[in-house]
Amino acid sequence: MRLTLTELAVLAVCVPMIFVLVVTIISRTSRVRAETRALSRRVICRLCLHAFEADERGLVECPRCGARNERK
Ligand SMILES: [Zn+2]
Repeated sequence: MRLTLTELAVLAVCVPMIFVLVVTIISRTSRVRAETRALSRRVICRLCLHAFEADERGLVECPRCGARNERK
């Protein structure tokens, strides 16, 4: 199979565009997942309203005031 010059030019333009599109979609998807994961770990203290992240569930201690907060 031989390519014409027009087909080669179209390929030379389309293939990098598709590559950039795929990389952009993957990058945004991973960033949204990371933000969602961080938001699910976030706890806002019921006393001082300090926002912090906690991995464990149940009662977590606020690093600023020491109050115990329930993480759902
Ligand atoms: Zn607090």
